[in-house]
Amino acid sequence: MLRSIDPATGSVVREYQPADARKIASALELADRASAGWRARSFAERGQALKQAAAFLRERAPEFAALMASEMGKPLGQGRAECEKCATTCDYFAENAARFLAPEPVGTDASRSFVTFNPLGLVLAVMPWNFPFWQVFRFAAPTLMAGNAGMLKHASNVSGCALAIETLFRDAGLSEGVFTTLLVGSPAVAALIASPHVRAVTLTGSTPAGRSVAEAAGRALKKSVLELGGSDPYIVLEDADLELAVETCAAARLVNAGQSCIAGKRFIPVEAVRAAFTERFVERMRRARFGDPRDPASNLGPLARHDLRDQLHAQVRASVDRGARLLLGGEVPPGPGAFYPPTVLDGVRPGMPAYDEELFGPVAAIIAARNEADAVRIANDSPFGLGAAVFTRDASRGERIAAEGLEAGSCFVNAQVHSDHRLPFGGVKESGYGRELSAFGIKEFVNVKTVYVK
Ligand code: NAP
Repeated sequence: MLRSIDPATGSVVREYQPADARKIASALELADRASAGWRARSFAERGQALKQAAAFLRERAPEFAALMASEMGKPLGQGRAECEKCATTCDYFAENAARFLAPEPVGTDASRSFVTFNPLGLVLAVMPWNFPFWQVFRFAAPTLMAGNAGMLKHASNVSGCALAIETLFRDAGLSEGVFTTLLVGSPAVAALIASPHVRAVTLTGSTPAGRSVAEAAGRALKKSVLELGGSDPYIVLEDADLELAVETCAAARLVNAGQSCIAGKRFIPVEAVRAAFTERFVERMRRARFGDPRDPASNLGPLARHDLRDQLHAQVRASVDRGARLLLGGEVPPGPGAFYPPTVLDGVRPGMPAYDEELFGPVAAIIAARNEADAVRIANDSPFGLGAAVFTRDASRGERIAAEGLEAGSCFVNAQVHSDHRLPFGGVKESGYGRELSAFGIKEFVNVKTVYVK
């Protein structure tokens, strides 16, 4: 049984019967057939359906936000904002896909040679619970506009969101099978990847899940895109606008109660500003209000599941046992719900979970650096490479560090790392491979085909 549990109360929201082997087989066959009809539609026709999906996202945002709050604890205002971001992305790919995928002529000795970008067919998406709508639309909008069909295996705790997205696409005019939600647990994923109906797979989630999907895709020789965890470093240099750095670092650590792959996780002030930054950062973190996601006064909901809260607390305890200093939080609050307070650890060093691992919750690790070179070394001393940020009043210095020094897929100067439909998004090292969004993302699931006419 797949179970949605309200993380603010611990009560069961709803249980869902997972699809059995017969249902899985018929869903795959239907999706494969539907993808042939969908690829034959023009960009304008596909764009019209995506525009309609965007309109429904805006119209139904209150309902979807309530669903997210009950299944994974996101505050209502943040859920509505997530729907708007999905809608903007649908509009963007509806308007730009034809341009991104227009055939490209290439001069050769042929009378005519060019490159086309044809759809691959059915693409499987294994998605996480942390942004239960955005993660799906980030995949679906470009992939569907490229002419592929999509099959969603969502995280087991957000089946209500998964079914609502399938309904939305049907209502927007997609024929049955063009976008399917399949309610299954993760043990079913390897067989789905191996199915001849599936042409490619994308996963957003943890590094262990990424390894399993990459293994299965490798065995089946299918294209995969992986967007995995991160431990984004935020460097604060001696010439930084400290007010801006403190505000941005706190916002980056608290986004989605800290449950974002591109949340700021390691904060690296250089010696000259370490004390001032740390003091102000702790005060700013202290001001965050956690509580029921349906209460407009709380800007921090519970963590999405009790087991994830317990895992986070164990990482905090192990870091303190190995010498980290607790400056704020670090205690599991009494009462029901998977709540965890804003927490700051200072004196974080290699060998502590707060240095070596991803902390998926509102726990900041402060790591002191001697100077710029030392800060960049520490920032890159991580198995992950998803996002990174640097704060300095010297724009050219920031640009140099972002462009040349930092090993990450997205490097921001004086700003919080965030995804934007116009910019490529993805990581290096154990943060995965491939890119989502922008003209780069839409080309991940196409056949880049050479046409040569003598
Ligand atoms: P997770 O286990 O990686 O789950 C993400 C998705 O992958 C879910 O749909 C999950 O299905 C599926 N999955 C899990 N193990 C799999 C496997 N071996 N083969 C195929 N699919 C698999 O993430 P989680 O346990 O919910 O969260 C734990 C950690 O994941 C977090 O602490 C964080 O590090 C990372 N995470 C990262 C992101 C991100 O945006 N990069 C998002 C969420 C989580 P089931 O739900 O059915 O298991």
